[in-house]
Amino acid sequence: MSLKICIVGSKGRMGQAIAEAAIEAGHQVSSKVDVGDDLAAGIAAADVVIDFSFHTVTKSVFRAAVEFGKPVICGTTGHSQEEKAELLKIAEKTATVWAGNFSIGVNLLCYLVEKAAAALPADYNAEIVEMHHRLKKDAPSGTALMLADAVLEPRGLSYDDLRHGREGITGERTQREVGMHSLRGGDVVGDHTVIFSEIGERVELTHKASSRAIFARGAVKAAEWAVGKKPGIYSIREVLGLA
Ligand code: NAD
Repeated sequence: MSLKICIVGSKGRMGQAIAEAAIEAGHQVSSKVDVGDDLAAGIAAADVVIDFSFHTVTKSVFRAAVEFGKPVICGTTGHSQEEKAELLKIAEKTATVWAGNFSIGVNLLCYLVEKAAAALPADYNAEIVEMHHRLKKDAPSGTALMLADAVLEPRGLSYDDLRHGREGITGERTQREVGMHSLRGGDVVGDHTVIFSEIGERVELTHKASSRAIFARGAVKAAEWAVGKKPGIYSIREVLGLA
């Protein structure tokens, strides 16, 4: 079925990649919304909305999607945990797929990291390293936070156990802490590695994205999947068949 899609953040790197992926999949981009455009009118005129813009925009997008009864696919990152909790309360009133990464490879990586974190003893120290292009505005990346969830949950840890970078006389590494390191530079689309190290060996699980098309195709697939679904928050793993 051909869908009318509203893209929020349409002039951005992802917005443009999503427009290409939508047309490639036989859909119509009925509204392109960027700074200064009428968000509500754009969403009202579409079957589904895909938002890859900026964290301050998400609340208006979710509110308009709920008001007009449209499914919403959100790839925007950079929200605090408090912001996320508040936004999810709005988003659950319409069919929503919200993920820090829409690629099948990264979602498989998250699954594998969850298994590794559960299988390896707690003294296998976990560290997360991500690298992105120099124009990225938030850190750590939404994907790095998905990977953090995959490490923290099986180990009974929380976001308070994340150690964002290290500097100065830090003392010895504690067993609980999970290091989080953000590198920025050039045109890197997105590299993520989770390292589990113990005395004598280390396991490294890595994903490298070389094109934004993988996220864009995943977002379009999520849009196709979400149309006609009941209100609620759906996981990207469900959409990609990795649940
Ligand atoms: P970008 O800076 O290239 O594009 C963002 C766009 O949003 C810009 O065109 C900007 O003008 C627009 N925008 C800002 N405020 C707006 C507003 N009030 N109303 C409408 N549009 C507005 O960034 P990008 O690289 O395209 O990334 C966009 C978002 O998607 C970021 O949060 C990024 O981290 C995230 N992202 C997610 C995934 C994923 O798979 N979930 C993949 C890549 C990027």
